[in-house]
Amino acid sequence: MYLQGVGPKKAAVLRSEIEVVSWEDMLYYFPYKYIDRSKIFTIREIDGNMPYIQLKGKISHYEVVGEGSGRRLTASFHDATGSIELVWFRLIKQIPDIYKVGKEYILFGKPTLFGHRINIAHPELETEDKFFEGEVGVQGQYNTTEKMKNVFLHSRALQKIIAQILENVKTSLDETLNDEVISKAYLISLDEAIRNIHFPKSPELLRKAQYRLKLEELFYLQLHILQVTKYREKRLGGFVFSKVGDYFNNFYQKNLPFELTNAQKRVVREIRQDTYTGRQMNRLLQGDVGSGKTLVALLSILIALDNGFQGAIMAPTEILATQHYETIRELVRGLGIEVALLTGSTKKKERGILLPKIKNGEIQILIGTHALIENTVEFGNLGLIIVDEQHRFGVAQRAKLWKKNAVSPHVLVMTATPIPRTLAMTVYGDLDISIIDELPPGRKPVKTMHVYSAKRNNLYDSVRKQLQEGRQVYIVYPLIEESEKIDLKNLQEGFAHTKEIFPEYKVCMVHGKMKPAEKEVEMQKFVSGETQIMVATTVIEVGVNVPNASVMIIENAERFGLSQLHQLRGRVGRGADQSFCILLTKYELSENTRKRLSIMTETNDGFVIAEEDLKLRGPGDLDGTQQSGVAFNLKIANLSHDGQILSYARDLSRAILDDDPMLEKPQNAILKQQLKKLNNQHQMGWFMIS
Ligand code: ADP
Ligand code: MG
Repeated sequence: MYLQGVGPKKAAVLRSEIEVVSWEDMLYYFPYKYIDRSKIFTIREIDGNMPYIQLKGKISHYEVVGEGSGRRLTASFHDATGSIELVWFRLIKQIPDIYKVGKEYILFGKPTLFGHRINIAHPELETEDKFFEGEVGVQGQYNTTEKMKNVFLHSRALQKIIAQILENVKTSLDETLNDEVISKAYLISLDEAIRNIHFPKSPELLRKAQYRLKLEELFYLQLHILQVTKYREKRLGGFVFSKVGDYFNNFYQKNLPFELTNAQKRVVREIRQDTYTGRQMNRLLQGDVGSGKTLVALLSILIALDNGFQGAIMAPTEILATQHYETIRELVRGLGIEVALLTGSTKKKERGILLPKIKNGEIQILIGTHALIENTVEFGNLGLIIVDEQHRFGVAQRAKLWKKNAVSPHVLVMTATPIPRTLAMTVYGDLDISIIDELPPGRKPVKTMHVYSAKRNNLYDSVRKQLQEGRQVYIVYPLIEESEKIDLKNLQEGFAHTKEIFPEYKVCMVHGKMKPAEKEVEMQKFVSGETQIMVATTVIEVGVNVPNASVMIIENAERFGLSQLHQLRGRVGRGADQSFCILLTKYELSENTRKRLSIMTETNDGFVIAEEDLKLRGPGDLDGTQQSGVAFNLKIANLSHDGQILSYARDLSRAILDDDPMLEKPQNAILKQQLKKLNNQHQMGWFMIS
């Protein structure tokens, strides 16, 4: 607040908008990109496709135009070669006093084509004498918010604040890594890195600064995760499942409905090995939709039963829990195994009967929703818990499970959202990973097609053929939260439209705004075959199993992310028949969207899709990371591009912890201190396990 050009008002905005309260915070607010400020363009050279550019010229006059929300301030800016329009939608009153008519400015902004004229909205203007050293050449650009801009905290203002801080900090900044890491990884010092990340002396030094800071960030993240893992392994002994007995063998010989795939066998072996050692298992099982995870879950539970323990399966929704319950009860029929279902809508009386039986161990397999981890549910001797479709289930909830027993049960988390290796390493550094990379035999891959909405009538003819053959059809509409009303209207219109197109068939509708019970009823109509077409939002994304459904139509497919499209597609192709997935879009699409859709039509491989998704969208958006409980918030490293740095950071941190698990050696003191500081600050949004 005491720096020149800041003051209490701007300081408050910095705090509330970007959580900057100290010089240190400000120095760690890094540019999100760099631009070349050595070049000044002439107005004649400009077109509407340019990135940020600089011009040199004068404002000749201002004018306020438009009304209501369209009200704006315009100005004409000219140099010797021509003139261009400038536009402001905010600060309409103040701007003419700040940027004077007739004075020469260096303008910085992005030209945009507006109709067929080019203008520049909210440019930054500065007289040439105000430029400070280091500002010509490669220059950092800082993210700013609307509220920051309203108090003139734009990118250049932040840059000036940072320049002042660095000017004030004459001595070098304290190093935050030890000599070993610095020399092993050939890093420049923290001081040099911070100065060059803001004011690069050369492109070479900018690269070195970026490398140093990314590596450091990922190094500490890995150090943290690996330490937590080691700690847990040491602290948490696990139950020993020493044998495979009658439940498993009888099931295998008498009830197993089909030969296991090799991938299923491998994963069961991995689980068997884990649960045999006396170490508590924490395993993530990734397997594409339809890869047969349920069977793996059941086989693992049977091993628990053979050793006198109970097993549980937790699903994210009641529908899924119920489906699991029915599937598993059917699978273990005749083996003398007690299976029960417990969800939020289990009646009080029923609960009263169940709870004591769970406690005394009479119920051997309990299936349910989050109701399972409520405090009122006490297990006699829970040995293994399976968590299905984990992306609705965070680290905090997992921790709750560990605390339920004196000895924690083994945990197997199953997910159909394939997580790219780099990301998995970061997010689930504390979990071992198993992968089912093979679908059961005889599955025909879903055929995926991209169709323009204008051609939908031809599409309906083909869909009718499928219906005539007795198949069922999903039609999915996007639902984006901010505009839920409009989209719900879309959905309802879609519902009405569908009924008109297919008057001879029954249609049901499901969306997220319905009460769970209502939703259940509608879903059930489709599951039982009472209705042939289901119009829905993405609520059907997870888990529903209707093998008879062979067509998935996705409306406005351009509005879905890749992983989501893949999840939706996984709802069909579950029976033996050829299934289809139709991506409907309008004709005009961005390049990025076209790319997304073509990936969908080209591959059915969830891992390829997840990698592409990560590349196209960045890890923050990836389905699963947000809800996973690890809201890590990296300042500079980018998980989609910095996979190699991440692996290296992991190797470095592992080597250090292998040698000195508690970071007690003098040469590691600096690491211990920094790790503690980062944890306290929650600088990276790290989770802590108590
Ligand atoms: P997901 O991994 O998506 O949970 P499921 O466990 O629901 O997949 O299995 C999908 C379908 O595949 C089920 O109908 C199941 O009975 C069947 N299935 C599972 N394993 C095999 C196998 N080894 N061979 C043939 N079909 C299998
Ligand atoms: Mg499943």
